[in-house]
Amino acid sequence: MAVRPNSPAAKDIAYVLHPYTNARRHEETGPMIIGRGEGVHVYDDQGKEYIEGLAGLWSVAVGFGEQRLVDAAAKQMQQLPYYHSFAHKSHEPSILLAEKLLEIAPRDFSKVFFTNSGSEANDTVIKLLWFYNNAKGRPEKKKFISRIKAYHGITLASASLTGLPANQKGFDLPLDRFVHTACPHHYRFAWEGESEEEFASRLAGQLEDLILREGPETIAAFIGEPVMGAGGVIVPPRTYWEKVQKVLRKYDILLVADEVINGFGRTGNLWACQTYDIKPDVLVTSKQLTSSYMPLAAIMITDEIYQGVADYTKELGTFGHGYTTSAHPVATAVGLENIKIIEERKLIEHAAAVAPRFQEGLRRFADHPLVGEVRGVGLIAAVELVSDKKSKAGFEPVGSVGLHLFERCQEHGLILRNLGDAIAFCPPLIISEQEIDQLLERFGQALDDTL
Ligand code: PLP
Repeated sequence: MAVRPNSPAAKDIAYVLHPYTNARRHEETGPMIIGRGEGVHVYDDQGKEYIEGLAGLWSVAVGFGEQRLVDAAAKQMQQLPYYHSFAHKSHEPSILLAEKLLEIAPRDFSKVFFTNSGSEANDTVIKLLWFYNNAKGRPEKKKFISRIKAYHGITLASASLTGLPANQKGFDLPLDRFVHTACPHHYRFAWEGESEEEFASRLAGQLEDLILREGPETIAAFIGEPVMGAGGVIVPPRTYWEKVQKVLRKYDILLVADEVINGFGRTGNLWACQTYDIKPDVLVTSKQLTSSYMPLAAIMITDEIYQGVADYTKELGTFGHGYTTSAHPVATAVGLENIKIIEERKLIEHAAAVAPRFQEGLRRFADHPLVGEVRGVGLIAAVELVSDKKSKAGFEPVGSVGLHLFERCQEHGLILRNLGDAIAFCPPLIISEQEIDQLLERFGQALDDTL
């Protein structure tokens, strides 16, 4: 489409460097400018309607245009638009949200630390556990294990946790102290004839080998998304987490659950830690915490970690970490109201109730000649495209057909996300069965156009 001179699109090309965008391609195509949203729909500046099949970036749980969140933000803006939480200062919304998170957490955590984004949260977790291990007199226990295809963010340290080439290539990453183990994607990485159970055992064995190679006394923590999101929506084998946790306990390695995407109902329960019976020492949540109406992330830690950190602050004088906008009053007020809406409207239960229609509907595409695997749980899923179903061969260049399908989806009024040659789905939790049917119909049309 031609970009009109001096239009917002032309100015976007002239002035904005976009995240996760091929800048040269953007100069040719220009932006898609979204003007407004309502429920599961967004509308571009030409008025065209789309189903937002990824809830923005896996995040708008309550849908677009939720007046209660607007009102909560406006009320807090009027009363106290900003205050910080450094040096003993506090304000009510952050206190109430911390209390609420600890009440609904999947285990007994003791404290909450707020940041503005998931990346900052994971960066904070790294520093927090380094601080903790220094406090405990084991300064050598600093390495983090994460997984190939994991996504934990893009700061220097959180991008080092991330296990995707695009986030490290060209950036001189990963940093030292970050090591990666195998991805639990059975379809791609299992041996011929290997059952899910055998695959999970093999991966737990590989993890143990890595720990022994690196030295257990050098490893602080293992971090994982219960269901991997940006790496392609990888649903682990049923016994994977049980086996991983057994290895971590054996070597005194802490477990960090990154629920930035999974938290707040994505996998059928409030927390994916409940779905997969995971008992983390640290839990990170963001995105659906405020439905992303305001930037906010929260880290929950056990009392054991807190006590170590607190003792050390006494010795050093302070916990020398925090952001100007940590625990922002407007963001925490919006988070509180968002959780209230999720509870009052029983959105977790709703998501679990409509999930079978969504998952079964998507699985109908498994027979399509381009589809290698359909995978997912609750209201998160992916369809992986292949050039040859039998050999599972992908495409050259990698991601080209995924991008093509993504563009056909947009023509049919459906916004998804292409992750290589997989297409990800993560609709708002409020989606109705009728809207799920529309989403599936639009996807089917786009898939047929891709053939
Ligand atoms: N962790 C996970 C699992 C994520 O999916 C993301 C973002 O998609 C992050 C961390 C980073 O969050 P942010 O983009 O808010 O920095």
